[in-house]
Amino acid sequence: MSGRLNPLLSQDDLPRFDMIAVADIAPAVKDLVRRCEAALEQGSSNDTPATYEALAAILDPAMQGLNDAWGVVEHLCAVADNPELRAAHASVQPAVTALSTRIASDLRLFHKYQLAAAEGADRLGPAQRRKLNNDLRAFRLAGAELAADDKHRFAANLMRSAEISKEFGNRLLDATDQFVYWAKEAELSGVPDDVMHNLRDEARSAGRDDGAYKLSLHQPCLGPLMRFAHDRGLREMLYRANVTRASQFGPATLDNTALISETLALRQERARLLGKASHAEVSLVPKMADTPQQVIDFLTDLGRRSQPQAERELAELKAFAAESLGLSDLQPWDLAYAGEKLREARYAFSAQEVKLHFTLDKVLAGLFTMVKQLFNVRFIIEQQATWHPEATAYRVERSGELLGRLLLDPFARSRKQGGAWMNGARPRWKKPDGSTRVALAYIVTNFARPAQGQPAFLSHGEVVTLFHEFGHALHFLLSRVDVLGVSGISGVEWDAVELPSQLMENFAWQWPVLQQITAHPDTGAPISRELFDKLCAARHFHCSLELMRQLELSMFDMRVHAEPAAGSRVQAVMDEVRSVFSPLLVPAYNRSQNGFSHIFNGGYAAGYYSYLWADVLASDGWEEFERAGTLDAGTAQRYLHAVLERGGSRPMLENFIEFVGRAPGIDAMLRQRGIAPASSSGSIN
Ligand SMILES: [Zn+2]
Repeated sequence: MSGRLNPLLSQDDLPRFDMIAVADIAPAVKDLVRRCEAALEQGSSNDTPATYEALAAILDPAMQGLNDAWGVVEHLCAVADNPELRAAHASVQPAVTALSTRIASDLRLFHKYQLAAAEGADRLGPAQRRKLNNDLRAFRLAGAELAADDKHRFAANLMRSAEISKEFGNRLLDATDQFVYWAKEAELSGVPDDVMHNLRDEARSAGRDDGAYKLSLHQPCLGPLMRFAHDRGLREMLYRANVTRASQFGPATLDNTALISETLALRQERARLLGKASHAEVSLVPKMADTPQQVIDFLTDLGRRSQPQAERELAELKAFAAESLGLSDLQPWDLAYAGEKLREARYAFSAQEVKLHFTLDKVLAGLFTMVKQLFNVRFIIEQQATWHPEATAYRVERSGELLGRLLLDPFARSRKQGGAWMNGARPRWKKPDGSTRVALAYIVTNFARPAQGQPAFLSHGEVVTLFHEFGHALHFLLSRVDVLGVSGISGVEWDAVELPSQLMENFAWQWPVLQQITAHPDTGAPISRELFDKLCAARHFHCSLELMRQLELSMFDMRVHAEPAAGSRVQAVMDEVRSVFSPLLVPAYNRSQNGFSHIFNGGYAAGYYSYLWADVLASDGWEEFERAGTLDAGTAQRYLHAVLERGGSRPMLENFIEFVGRAPGIDAMLRQRGIAPASSSGSIN
C-alpha cells in the first residue's frame, strides 16, 4: 500500500479530476460517511453548546466534505458515465442516502437547532438566522418529528426513492443511446451541411466507412433533423423513437412506466406521513407559491390568456403547410419542420444564416466582456485538470479578488447526459477556521462538436441557452453570502431560482450585445443590423404554441403530484392535460412522460411550473434594464446588490422589491411574449 491520499478527500479548491479513479469512490465515501456520523454524535451530545457557531463548527466541515466528494461522483455519472462508475455509485448510494435521511430526521439534533435558533434570535445576523430557520423546516419535512415506526418507514421510503430515481435516469440514458439509425445521404435532404458533417463523423468514429450517417436521439442530431429533414417518414420515425424512449414499446428492462407509478406512490406516502394531503403540498413549503391550487390557477390563467393566440398560430401554420409544403394533415413530427419553413418564408432569413455568425469562442469572449461591463467581474482561463479535455476552467475575479471558478463543458458526446445545466458544485463558504473557500460552478451543455478545422457554430437558440446557464452561474458565483445553506443558490426558493437565468436570456436579444458576440468566420464582421432586426422580428414566432407546451408539462407535473391517486392513472392525467393544452392531437403511443427526467430524476417534482413562475419575475425585472439601456451599469449594480449577491439569505420577493421598487406582476411577461395583457392585471407574490 502506498501512502497516496485518496483524491476525493482532498481539501483543495478544485476536485482532483486528473487523479480520481473509480476505485477511490467507495473508500472515500465510506470514510466521509463515518466522519459525518461522528459529527452527528458530537453535535447532538449534551457536551456541545446549542449555538449556531458550535453546531456549524462540528457539522459543516463533515457534511461539506461528503457533499464535495459525492457531488463529484454524481457529476461524473452525468458527464462521463460508464458501467464501473455506475457500479461504484450504486455501491455507496444507499449509505449516503441513509446518512442524510438519518441526520435530517434526527430528533436530538432537531432540538439542538431549535435551541440554537432561540439563542441566536437577537444575536445572529439575518443570513445565519435564515439558515437555521431553513434547517428547522427541512428537519420537519424530513420527518424529524415522526414517531419511531413512521420514521423508519419514511427512511425506507427515501432509500427506495433515491434508488429508483437513479434507475429512471440510467434507463433513459441507455434507451437514448440504444437508438441508432444508419441513414443514406439521400434520406437527409434539407439537413444543413454542418449537421451532415457531424453525423458523418459520428458514423466514422463508430467504424462505418461506407458513407453512412449515424442518426441518434441526442439533441445535436434530433433537433436539426426534426426542423430541417424533408423526409417526412424519417421525421416520423425519429419522433416515435424519441417519445417512446424508456417505455413499454422498447425493451422491458429499460421501461420506466412502473418506476413512475412507484415514485408517485412513494412521494404520496411520505406526504401522508408528514400530515400533508399530497406531495405537491410538501414540495411547495419552501417555495414562493403557497398552495397547489394557486399554481394550478396560475397555469390555467396563463393558458386562458394565451390560447387564442396559440390557436391563431396553429391555424396559420396549417394553412401554410397545406399550401406551400403539401402537408394537409399536419402531425406532431411536422411542427418544427413546417414552423422553420414558415419562419423562413415570413422573415426571409434562415436560422442557418444566423448561425454562421455565432462561434463558441466569439460568443464566450463577448459574453465575458458584457459581464465585465455589467458587474465588473472578469473570467480568465486557468490551466486546471477537468473531467474531459474539452472542459475549460476559468477564474472569476473582481479587482484582483478571486470570487470563484467556472468549469465549462460545451460539447455533446456519448455517455454524457443530454440538455444543459449549471451545477453549483461548491458554494462560497466561510469555514469555522475563518478562512473562505471560493465558489465552484460547472456549466454543461450539449452543443455540436465542431467539424475538423472549423470553429464550433451555435444556433441563436443555443446562445440563449448559454446565457441562461450563465445567469445561474452568476447568481451562484457572485453571491457575497458565505453562510452554508444560504450562500450561492442554496436556500433560494426553487420557483424563483430561474429568475437570474431567464433575465439573462434577454441580453442575447440586444443589439449592443450581439455586436460583441458575433463575427463571421470569413470576414470577421459582426451580424448586420438588417439580419439582427429580422431575428428579433421572429423572436415571438410561435411563442404561444411554445407556452402551451410549457403549460402542458407544468400542469402534468403539478397534477400527478397534487392528486393522491395519480400514480395509478398517469397516462389518463397526461391525456386530460393534453386535451386542454395540446394544440395537436398526440399519437396514442406517445409516452414522453417516461423521459421526463426533470420530475422523475431531478429536483423539479411539483416544481416544473417554476420556469413560468420565475419568468414572471424575470420579465418584470428585465424591464428595468430595458428602460435604462441594456448595458446600464447603474441598473446592473442595483440588480447585483439586490438579487445576485444575496444568495438565499432572504426571500426573493424582498430582493425583487428592492430591485424594482414594487411587487412583481404578470403583464411584463405577456407583453414580452407579444400576448396582449388582460385589463385586470394578475400578480404573484
Ligand atoms: Zn435554468
